[in-house]
Amino acid sequence: METIREVGALRDLVRSARGSGRTIGYVPTMGALHEGHLSLVRLARRESDFTVVSIFVNPLQFGPNEDLGRYPRKEADDAAALASESVDVLYLPDAAEMYPPDFSTSVEVRGVSEGGEGETRPGHFRGVATVVAKLFLQVSPDVAVFGQKDLQQVSVVRRMTRDLDFPIRLLVGPTVREPDGLAMSSRNAYLSPEERRVAAAFPRALFEARDRAGRGERGAAELSENVRRELRTARLDPDYVDVVDPETMAPVEIAAPGTALLAAVRIGKTRLIDNVLVP
Ligand code: AMP
Repeated sequence: METIREVGALRDLVRSARGSGRTIGYVPTMGALHEGHLSLVRLARRESDFTVVSIFVNPLQFGPNEDLGRYPRKEADDAAALASESVDVLYLPDAAEMYPPDFSTSVEVRGVSEGGEGETRPGHFRGVATVVAKLFLQVSPDVAVFGQKDLQQVSVVRRMTRDLDFPIRLLVGPTVREPDGLAMSSRNAYLSPEERRVAAAFPRALFEARDRAGRGERGAAELSENVRRELRTARLDPDYVDVVDPETMAPVEIAAPGTALLAAVRIGKTRLIDNVLVP
């Protein structure tokens, strides 16, 4: 595995891989890698011949009072994990190179970025879309892999990819969970042992609503109220619980197969997101 910090060197490697007839697969991450990330790396490897993984904690997508400063950074462990997955290139762009002081461009994906995370975290998806557009242009992959864990992010990136004609096929990997159901997340490391125990109620509440919807209880207001009640009972503080069409992120009144239940909760100082799809 080659570890590269400079975009010119990255382009050279990708150009020569493509020159020898290989297709390029790409997984963007913010590091502190876990099995969820590694499952996406394996998917990229299955679907392409040359795999690039980036680790970049993108300052643009963090709000002023968010966790940018304390976001976990584990470069050496991450590099070892990626090397053992036979990744070809680990790309570690430098923030000052990504965003020179007079950086002035942003990508705004209207509509899909407005509810859910977009409402609680103003500017978040502008930061995501801008960095993903830059990374797509830097890496120029044939295939890019994202996790369903960040479902709204997938919708934003999908819409941007279509609107701006990026010649990239997007793949979405399923959410990888801990044995008690909690979705793996780099932010789970913030939880105290007690908070970690309580956090299992979050996926449980979503699974229960998913099962209710699967049994025909399709009213979105009731489903979301059920989730909220379960969360409060477990002393989790719901930020939002939305029932939406995952393509457009528009709220629906009646859930149907494929409808997404999307939620964010606060546990102490930590904010976690998760989602499930109605079967
Ligand atoms: P992050 O490092 O949190 O920006 O995530 C990088 C990529 O990994 C994103 O496409 C996420 O959706 C995906 N991801 C994060 N957690 C999981 C998980 N538990 N299962 C599957 N994919 C995940």
